[in-house]
Amino acid sequence: MANPKPSADPSVCISLAGVGKHYGKTKVLEDINLEIKTDEFCVFVGPSGCGKSTLLRMIAGLESITSGDLFIDGKRMNEVEPSQRGIAMVFQSYALYPHMTVYDNMAFGLKLNKLPKTEADKRIREAARMLKIEPLLERLPKELSGGQRQRVAIGRAITRHAKIFLFDEPLSNLDAALRVSMRGELSRLRKQLQTTMVYVTHDQVEAMTMADRLVVLHAGHIEQVGSPLEVYHRPRTLFAAGFLGSPRMNFLRGEVASTSAAGVTIKLADGTTVDAKVSSDGVTVGQKVTVGVRPEHMRITTGTGPRQATVQLVEDLGDHSIMHLESAASEDRLLAKVESAPAGEGDKVTFELPPEECHVFDAGERALPRLDRGA
Ligand code: ADP
Ligand code: MG
Repeated sequence: MANPKPSADPSVCISLAGVGKHYGKTKVLEDINLEIKTDEFCVFVGPSGCGKSTLLRMIAGLESITSGDLFIDGKRMNEVEPSQRGIAMVFQSYALYPHMTVYDNMAFGLKLNKLPKTEADKRIREAARMLKIEPLLERLPKELSGGQRQRVAIGRAITRHAKIFLFDEPLSNLDAALRVSMRGELSRLRKQLQTTMVYVTHDQVEAMTMADRLVVLHAGHIEQVGSPLEVYHRPRTLFAAGFLGSPRMNFLRGEVASTSAAGVTIKLADGTTVDAKVSSDGVTVGQKVTVGVRPEHMRITTGTGPRQATVQLVEDLGDHSIMHLESAASEDRLLAKVESAPAGEGDKVTFELPPEECHVFDAGERALPRLDRGA
């Protein structure tokens, strides 16, 4: 077998080639192939237990790699010590030394690396200034709020002048308001530091707002890699479609009634049909499919029409409402996001599924390419 080769592209910083992780017979990650560019903010997103932390820890060198190869800047890293990988990592738990001041927490690693005191001091003050924690330098961790502790943990990572930053759910322990402001700060910091950042989260809003590129993980494999809007508008799998977006995309089961160059017509459970602007390549009449429509694309009217539903619940959220609908067209309750609900609980409504907003997934849960936005 040929020696494993790193990417030929010089803009690639981290390269994973066929990487897998097994614990005994349990396969946690399998055949991960991914290239992360220098200066890129790459987000691993997926539900709890899908393998995000394991993958990040393998890049950091805190977990061994069972199969495949990891390259950083073109060098194979599988057996290289964590401290030699040029990486700084920030954990959800902050991992600060409780008996040391903020200053000493930041200085500790630098001292271990035998950095001269004056240089260490310069870096600590620079990081403290960036994160606005200068007044806190003499405090102990227990005298800080959760948000301040997380800033210290990030500051400590900054002082290392690493080329790669790895973040494992760094904001999960913070309250909602603080998460929003820290999200903004991290995005700003990222522009200042201009380093490669890999960020793990199960929070799809964090992922959508911060990432240059999303890696959607599910049960140990990659579902899709792409920009947030690309994954949102052109999900390649049913899982990716359902994971991004809140409320979640509606899924209606049906079967293919007819195909043409303009798209695919699907018959739903209530006998009504829906036209979807998706490629009919390889699609056969009678084939089982799932139609996906985001709540904001459901068109609800009180007029008459073939596709009927009963309003179960209306949630008024001020600037918009979520209507919960029961319909013979779908086994599951359907959700519609509307500016203002045209009907109330118990009322009958008609709904349309706009052809250009319909996603279609085959029995293997893979999306048929959309015609309007390209494949
Ligand atoms: P995530 O960060 O996405 O929540 P993890 O990477 O922590 O997921 O874990 C992925 C899977 O690996 C989980 O199913 C978890 O139970 C399993 N796992 C993690 N560590 C071990 C271990 N030491 N032994 C066996 N299984 C493990
Ligand atoms: Mg995790």
